[in-house]
Formats: sequence, structure tokens, C-alpha cells
Amino acid sequence: MTQSLARIRFVLVGPTHTGNMGAVARAMKTMGLTRMELVAPSRAPDAEALARASGADDLLARAGIHRDLVEALVGCRLVIGASARRRTLEWPLLEPPECARQLIAESSAGEVALVLGRESSGLTNLELAHCHYLVHIPADPRFSSLNLAAAAQVLAYEIRRAWREERRDRLEEPARDLATAEEMEGLYRHLVETLREIGFGDPEQSHKLMRRLRRLFNRARPDRVELNILRGILSAAQGRKTAERSPRRLDATNPATQLQNKPCSSD
Ligand code: SAH
Repeated sequence: MTQSLARIRFVLVGPTHTGNMGAVARAMKTMGLTRMELVAPSRAPDAEALARASGADDLLARAGIHRDLVEALVGCRLVIGASARRRTLEWPLLEPPECARQLIAESSAGEVALVLGRESSGLTNLELAHCHYLVHIPADPRFSSLNLAAAAQVLAYEIRRAWREERRDRLEEPARDLATAEEMEGLYRHLVETLREIGFGDPEQSHKLMRRLRRLFNRARPDRVELNILRGILSAAQGRKTAERSPRRLDATNPATQLQNKPCSSD
């Protein structure tokens, strides 16, 4: 699964501030992204880049340096360009969460890229033409241009969120050994019996009380171990302190045990 993050490359086109290159590397690494490509940077990453990378220098060291965008996109099946402006030309525009979902979904099949533009002028129309979609962070339209690394951070975070969501969907909740219907009936009979024995409540009212208690325990959906704990507590309340002396403390899964419980008129 982390493989899908490794297949997402961030391509910086014509960055001029080496500090931004470092800050993008840091933004990426915090979100589990590892692959950065630089297209015609004004300078190679330097000390300023390293300082701003603040520990993400491995990404900088591995970053490929390319002459043009085409070279940086080799092998990519999906390319999304980040734009600070809502372009007027007809270009499919995504919001960050949808962009992230697309990148994650397609990265399970191959390499994908997110392209970020120059600090001064963004991406040219020619560069946009290499993109399948554009993504725009819906900032205030009167001041919508984020710093390059800030934009990278927002988009990287959305990618991580989408990745985590997908992972959560995949990891099924480990199957719990839930108590069965008849085991729950055994618990309820035991409960009624115990409540009577300890003088709790009015038997006339017990119908309503038991309905409420059933609702409570059914909502909790106890597993077998939890059910046995509850029955152990009931047995203790009945004065049967040890498992050996208490038939009701026996395994609730044993139907014979349940049959020993008196039938309950109130449930
Ligand atoms: N002055 C440039 C903006 C450059 S900001 C312009 O008007 O296009 C540098 C890069 O950061 C942009 O090219 C884009 O890739 C990214 N970026 C900045 N703000 C963004 C936003 N609101 N949505 C998406 N990407 C953004």
C-alpha cells in the first residue's frame, strides 16, 4: 500500500527559490511522499534548500533534474497540474480531495504525477497541455496564490488523507467472536434471576427494565469473553464466588448450562 505513495511524483517546474525546493521536500516527506522531480530549476538544491528541508534532504538528494516537463513525466499514466488560478479555458478542474483520490486510485496501477508551477508565473499553457486535469485549492479568489511549498503541503495532505481512507476501507475490522443469540438469552435469564435474588427492582416492572437492559447489551454486541465476564459478575453477585461452585459461571456457550437457568417470564 505504501507502494502507491511511492508512485506519486511531485514535479516542480522552473522553481527559482532553492528554499522552496527544500520546503516542498519537507511537505512531501511529512505525508509519506518520496519522489520529487525538478524541471529546469534556476539552481540545483543548495544549503538554503537543505536548511528548509529540515531532515527531508534524502528527497532532495534523490530528486531528478530534467530539461523539460516531458522528460520529468516519463512513465506517468496520470498527470495533474496545480494551478493558482481558476483557468477560464476548458480544462477539467478538480478540487484537492478529488485530485487526491484520483492520484491514489491510479497509482495502484502505475506512476502518476502532480505538477507545480513557477513561483513567478505558474505553468504555461503548453505545460498545462500535458495534464489530464488541473487542481485548484479553493482559496480566496481575490488572493488565491499560495506559496509553492504551502500549495504542495495542502495537496500532499489531501493525498495522505485519501490514502488513509482507502487503507481503512481495505482493512476489514478483525472478526470478533460475538456472542450468539442463545448465549445472549442465557445472559438475560441469568440477569433476571440475579436481579430477583439481590432484590433489585419490582418484578412487576421487570418487563420494562429487561427491555431496557436488553437494548443496552444488544447495542454493545459483546463477544464471548465479555459475555463470560458479565456472567461471572452475576454469579459473584449471587454469592457464588468461584467458578467451580457456580453452574452459571460455566461456559455460556454450553446450552446445557443455559437450560439450568430458570425460564424468565419477564423477557
Ligand atoms: N503567480 C503564479 C502562482 C505561482 S504559485 C500564478 O499566478 O500562476 C506556484 C505554484 O504553486 C503554482 O504554479 C501552483 O502549482 C501552486 N499553487 C499556488 N496556489 C495554488 C492554488 N490556490 N491551487 C493550486 N495550486 C496552487
